[in-house]
Amino acid sequence: MSTSKPRPRAWFESLRDPTERYPLDEVVYTDRSGGLLQVVHDMDALAETSAEEWKRIFESRAHRNEWPYGSGVWGKKEWVLPDIDNDNVVSMYEGHTNLFWAERYGREIGLEDLWLKLCGNSHTGSFKDLGMTVLVSQVKQMIAGGAKIPAVACASTGDTSAALAAYAAAAGIPAIVFLPRGKISMAQLIQPVANGAIVFALDTDFDGCMDIVKQVSEKDGVYLANSMNSLRIEGQKTVGLEIAQQLDWAMPDWLVIPGGNLGNVSALAKGLDMLLELGLISKRPRICVGQAEAANPLYLAYQKDFEVFEPIAARTTVASAIQIGNPVSYDKAVDALRRYDGVVEQATEAEIMEECASADRTGLFNCPHTGVALVALRKLQERGLVRSSDRVVVISTAHGLKFVDSKLAYHQMELEGIVSRHPNPPIELAADYGVVRDEMLREIERRFGR
Ligand SMILES: *Cc1c(COP(=O)(O)O)cnc(C)c1O
Repeated sequence: MSTSKPRPRAWFESLRDPTERYPLDEVVYTDRSGGLLQVVHDMDALAETSAEEWKRIFESRAHRNEWPYGSGVWGKKEWVLPDIDNDNVVSMYEGHTNLFWAERYGREIGLEDLWLKLCGNSHTGSFKDLGMTVLVSQVKQMIAGGAKIPAVACASTGDTSAALAAYAAAAGIPAIVFLPRGKISMAQLIQPVANGAIVFALDTDFDGCMDIVKQVSEKDGVYLANSMNSLRIEGQKTVGLEIAQQLDWAMPDWLVIPGGNLGNVSALAKGLDMLLELGLISKRPRICVGQAEAANPLYLAYQKDFEVFEPIAARTTVASAIQIGNPVSYDKAVDALRRYDGVVEQATEAEIMEECASADRTGLFNCPHTGVALVALRKLQERGLVRSSDRVVVISTAHGLKFVDSKLAYHQMELEGIVSRHPNPPIELAADYGVVRDEMLREIERRFGR
C-alpha cells in the first residue's frame, strides 16, 4: 500500500548494511546483527540549497528567538532532524557556546592561535545537552503520534543523566535514571533529583545499571537514552558546525577532544563530513582524541594502527565521564579518525590535574576531561605534530563547576598519589590588619615579583 507521507529526509541506517533502514519514529537502537545504527540524511535534498545560502540561513537564525531556530542545534534543523514538527521540539536554546582565543594560556605553552570551545557553558553544564534535545524531541514526536512510551531512561553517573532529566522534565515526559549506589558525588546526583527524574540508586556498578536499563527498555517499552541511541549524535555534531561558523568557515589545523564512549568524536567528524560534502568548508582539519591513561582502549588500539581492539577494565580517573573500558562507538570513532588523519594521546592522573591547574591560572576553569585534551595537545606539540603557528581548537566538554571535588583536593594537596605543583589553598589568618597586610604584600611579591 502506498502511503501519503512525504519521502523522509533522514532515517536510521545500519553501519554494516546500508540497505537496512528504519524510520526515525521507530523504536530501534541496533541493527539486526546487534551493531550500531546511524542517522543518514538525504544529501541530494540538502545540496539543492547552495553552500552560500546555507551559511546565510545559519547566520540569520543565530542568537534570534524564532522558535526553535534560536537554539544552536535547531538553527541547523534541516541538517539535524529535518522531519520533526517544530511543536514537538524540546529545547532550552542549547549550543551557541563561546569559542574564544585562549591568549595567555596559548602563549605559555607556545601556541599563537589556540582556541577553546566551551561546550560546558550550557543548560546542564555539559555538551550532552546538544544530543539530548534531539533525542527527547524525537520521543515527544513519537508520543504525539500515538506511540506507547511510558518513560525515557539511561544508566549514567553524571552528565547524561543530568541532560536527560532536564529535557524530559521540560517536555513533561517521565525520566528514569539508574545510578550505582554510593559511587557518585553529590553534584552528579543533584541534577536528576532536582529535575524530578525517578532516580534509582542500585547496589551495583555502572555496567550493572546498564544491564537493568537494557532490560526495562526491551521488556517494558521504556525508551533508551544511552549513547548507543544514534539520535544523540545528530545534535552533538553541531559542535563542528558551530566551530566552522564561529571561525568564519575557515577550519583550524587541529581539533582536540576528550573521548570515552567515543560518540562525541564520531559526532564531531560527522558534522565536518556534512560541511565538506555540502561545500561550506574546504579544509579538512586533523582530529586528536585524548584519553585518560586509566581508561585508554582507543589509545592502545591506535598504537596498533587500529588493527586489534581489546576492551579493558577502566580504572578510576578524575575524568570520571570518560572512565570507560569498552566504548560503544569504537567503530564509528576509528572511521572518523581515519577520515581526519587522527591521532590518539593519553594523560596520566597527575598530568591531568597539573595541566588543569596551570591552565586555570590563566583564567580558565577546566573540568578534568578538558584537562585530558590539554595534555593531549602538549603531547602533539612535543611530537612536532602541532607547530607554534598552527590554529588549534580544544573542545571543552563540561563546566569546571561540575567537577570541583578533584580540583579542591588538588589545591588542598589531598589528591592521592599526586604532589600538587601549583596548590593555592586559602590562607587562614586572624582578622588583623597588620598581619593581613604583611601576608598580602609577601604573596604579591612571591607570585608576581612586584
Ligand atoms: C560524555 C562526556 C565525555 C565523553 O564523550 P564520549 O562521547 O563518551 O566520548 C567527555 N567529557 C564529558 C564532560 C562528558 O560528559
